[in-house]
Amino acid sequence: MKCEICDAEVANSEELKAHMEREHTLEERGDEELEKPDMMDQPLSGAPIVPGKN
Ligand SMILES: [Zn+2]
Repeated sequence: MKCEICDAEVANSEELKAHMEREHTLEERGDEELEKPDMMDQPLSGAPIVPGKN
């Protein structure tokens, strides 16, 4: 069978799974709900966290 993302030949579904985990990120695979563009590490609460200033 073939990898749908890069067309690499793999022997079976186990190989495909291993290939996916090795060669492709979750985003590429698209089987997680990670369609968020850029805002990954932004803290959502207003104030920035400054250690030692309180
Ligand atoms: Zn692939």
